[in-house]
Amino acid sequence: MLTKNGIPVSPGVVISRAVVLDAEDVAIPRRAVALDKLHAEHKRLDAAIEASKKDLDLLKKQAIATVGADLAKVFDAHLAMLKDVSTIEQVRQMIRDDMVTAEFAVFTVFHKIADVFEGQEDRYFRERVSDIRDLERRLLGHLIGETRANLDRLEHEAILVAHDLTPSQTAALDKTKIKGIATDAGGRTSHTAILAHALGIPAVVGLENITTLVNTGQLLVLDGNRGRVIIDPDAAELLQSREYGKKVANLESMLVEVTKLPARTTDGTDLEINANIEFPDEIEAALQKGAAGIGLYRTEFLFLSCNHEPTEEEQCKAYKQALRALRGKTLIIRTLDLGADKIWPAAMANPHVERNPFLGCRSIRLCLQNLPLFKTQLRAILRASVEGPLRIMFPLISNVMELRQARMILNDVMEDLDDQNIAYRPDIPVGIMIEVPSAALQANILAREVDFFSIGTNDLIQYTVAVDRSNERIANLYSGAHPAVLQLIRDVVRAAKRAKIDVSLCGEMAGEPEFVMALVGMGLRSLSMTPPAIPEVKKILRSVSIEKCRRLARKVSSFESDRQVLNYLREEVRKILPEGLVSGGMMGN
Ligand code: PEP
Ligand code: MG
Repeated sequence: MLTKNGIPVSPGVVISRAVVLDAEDVAIPRRAVALDKLHAEHKRLDAAIEASKKDLDLLKKQAIATVGADLAKVFDAHLAMLKDVSTIEQVRQMIRDDMVTAEFAVFTVFHKIADVFEGQEDRYFRERVSDIRDLERRLLGHLIGETRANLDRLEHEAILVAHDLTPSQTAALDKTKIKGIATDAGGRTSHTAILAHALGIPAVVGLENITTLVNTGQLLVLDGNRGRVIIDPDAAELLQSREYGKKVANLESMLVEVTKLPARTTDGTDLEINANIEFPDEIEAALQKGAAGIGLYRTEFLFLSCNHEPTEEEQCKAYKQALRALRGKTLIIRTLDLGADKIWPAAMANPHVERNPFLGCRSIRLCLQNLPLFKTQLRAILRASVEGPLRIMFPLISNVMELRQARMILNDVMEDLDDQNIAYRPDIPVGIMIEVPSAALQANILAREVDFFSIGTNDLIQYTVAVDRSNERIANLYSGAHPAVLQLIRDVVRAAKRAKIDVSLCGEMAGEPEFVMALVGMGLRSLSMTPPAIPEVKKILRSVSIEKCRRLARKVSSFESDRQVLNYLREEVRKILPEGLVSGGMMGN
């Protein structure tokens, strides 16, 4: 039995067998293979070699036709390597003697050969290194591709163990089969973590090397509340985990009663609790959890889940579907926030050359450089606006000119629609996300030009404290409790109030129990969060007065470090929530 601790990002305790998903470009974990399964590993290797030979034959034919026979010879070299008995025999020997998977043997043997070639004086040998790596990737592609395909054909429930998952991979998971997610990489507010929470799949990320410790088929306990994975649990641990899982589930079900009640403090102040969604079909569940409306619709997921650029019609249909599902409640549509960890190859000519993707051509910047893409989305949003109350929100605004440019394009699109006699709501409210420190510091100025602000703490934290939100190695430095972050939030709320515009907060902090009272104490009256967090937040708000929240916020502003802030806030929220009831937020740490 072995316990690994990571970052809890989606609550729930599950006990199930593991399915390990490999990633092509990370070290392949060493996994032992039982004696009676070795034959199958050799067969997998044979199949991968045959498939690779076919690829190479085809590539060679295509290359002869396009670049000529001379350059096509490179594929002969690859084919020769595949037919080289001694290389393949080394792989076979390793599978046999070390009893490991075919992919691990290919990975190890090819890396060893590449290292030897790299160390040679002769340039000819050094230049062969890229051929060896290319061939290794091809073989691994076939071997690992099989594992990926198996995931789609999964016949039983499982906990998915992976180095990392992209947001679109997570969105595509079969919820009836995948009961939990454990990844080496990732941080508290990486989009994969946010999605797992929204889908209600218990998840622990940032486990660093879980893929090297777990084999497909091994029994795991995944505890999404306390952020840990237990490999091969013994009987006593299994019993304890089952008991704890039941306790968590019971406490959660106790919260069902608050979903229908207003988010009203003990002194009668009403707060607005909205939901964040990625797809319109999440709305029904969000309303059932007690959402007053949708405070953030991440429209980029429509693009990420599509293998073509969604047309104006397709987009308009999705936005109208969302408004219909809301039956008169407000929908805040955020324009495309692609880039960084949300890679959509169609819009990014060269996504991998971004040296600092989170500081790169993402979000509104990408839209302003791809006007047809941006305008198509704005047309679709405006056309949908006749269906119900809708607001437009621009992400990642970092200066006034950017906002003015975006608004100008919106006006252009409105004029086009006027010319074509297409109906839309001309008075549609326009707001921005405040998620870059420069925007927070200029909130007074920006507030004069918009109808509302929504504070995006997921990005605001990473840019304020210079910590990549998805990097598990520095996850301890990523903290919404940092006094600098809290000061920015306070200032933005004040600027919005002075300008008499609406202000909300839609980062993950809004749904983390320990922050709720402090945020309300700072003046926020509207919060938007992942739907599963809503009942817990309502429960907290219904147990306190505004005055208590204000006192708490004042106290917090006197602290110098995030540790002091967190210790104090946790202590306070524990007085309200039953012991053990947490929603995958920081309280598990
Ligand atoms: C944020 O940055 O806080 C936010 C809500 O947007 P996203 O998580 O999609 O970047
Ligand atoms: Mg953001």
